[in-house]
Amino acid sequence: MDNLNELAINGGSKAKTVPFGSGNRFAGNELKYLQEALAQNTLFYGNGRFVRQACDMMKAYTGRPYAVACSSGSAAIHLGLIAAGIGPGDEVIVTPNTDSGSILGIIEEGAVPIFCDVDWTLQPTAASVAARITDRTRAVEVIHLAGNPAPVDEIVELCRPKGIAVVEDCAQSWGTKLHGRQVGSFGTAGCFSTNDFKHISTGDGGFVVLSDEALCRRVHNYADKHYDRFFGREQAQAHHGINYRMSELQGAVACAQLEVVDAITSRQHVLGELLRMLVENIPGAQMVKPVPDAYCTYWWTVIYIEPDRFSVSRDEIVKALVAEGFSGTNYGKYDLIGKPLFQKRIVRPWLTGDKAMYPFVQPDGRSYTYSHAQTPVHKQTLERGIMVTFNSFHTEQDMEEVADAFRKVLSAYAV
Ligand SMILES: *Cc1c(COP(=O)(O)O)cnc(C)c1O
Repeated sequence: MDNLNELAINGGSKAKTVPFGSGNRFAGNELKYLQEALAQNTLFYGNGRFVRQACDMMKAYTGRPYAVACSSGSAAIHLGLIAAGIGPGDEVIVTPNTDSGSILGIIEEGAVPIFCDVDWTLQPTAASVAARITDRTRAVEVIHLAGNPAPVDEIVELCRPKGIAVVEDCAQSWGTKLHGRQVGSFGTAGCFSTNDFKHISTGDGGFVVLSDEALCRRVHNYADKHYDRFFGREQAQAHHGINYRMSELQGAVACAQLEVVDAITSRQHVLGELLRMLVENIPGAQMVKPVPDAYCTYWWTVIYIEPDRFSVSRDEIVKALVAEGFSGTNYGKYDLIGKPLFQKRIVRPWLTGDKAMYPFVQPDGRSYTYSHAQTPVHKQTLERGIMVTFNSFHTEQDMEEVADAFRKVLSAYAV
């Protein structure tokens, strides 16, 4: 007989007894719509119907009157920042526990990312944003991380009287609600990603949702070489724009994925809530708590380990969990501040001097440096967190066995 308490890392049997649930995420109308898109004899969004239809679905999904499709989530956020009116030398406040796609539009515009701290919910707070506001702050980018909403309503309330725009990064927060409202409907712009690692996928793609027609025209034109295609062409090539267009192929898949997004996100909500209940009884482990009145869709979550209660480090605990068949990872790398871009500040290595370091070094001599001392709670979350990833094919048994792995490993190492 196996000793069930013997850790797998020491030769015992694994807590995970069956493979994680899996399935075909493109099992709906994807193929049908792709065939219909090809039958249109055009894959250009301006001539076909699918990108247009996907935009209509995004309007209904977020309750906003305008939607623009684009080539990626990073592009969507860049466009959201264009809606916010950021320009060279402006400061944009953003949290550091995110994908680089959250900040590349800031740098592209010659603006400066300013990292604010998070609290133990992993989200910014109105106070942590307020602490970083200066007379150069032009926008706050609120990232709703991991299917948890940030307190964007409080941040909008802080920023509006100061004339500071709020842009929402909803790449990880399909279906996520705050006070019953889909996130992406609070700020100047809501920005979504459909890259392959999100709740829904079109391979690559993104959407921006807005409430203002003039801003929609600005964003649309910026994303399509300033052709002014849907607006009478009065302003064709009047100004700069780039090519962030979505093709009909992605649009077709987007329509099919948006038909099933609610089923996916409500399933991830159920799995996440189940894991929360299971982890509650494990001494020394604490799952990230959401902000009040949140509906979470758990693209992933973090379980914090209380450092004083165990005889080994968090990293050793992760190794033992992986040996048990756990699919999660160390949260310690989910951080932009520590990346070479922010430590060395060489943005364009083929240029020299201050040009290579622009926008971290501004033409007026301002120089911005980055350190974890600016975000002390974020630093602690990196030290204590273990990341648990989800997908909607996971089963209740998967969640139970993940919790079993935590219980087994943490009790073996408890002091
Ligand atoms: C994925 C992601 C992005 C970027 O999306 P892409 O489609 O990969 O460009 C931006 N922000 C966050 C928080 C993300 O998770």
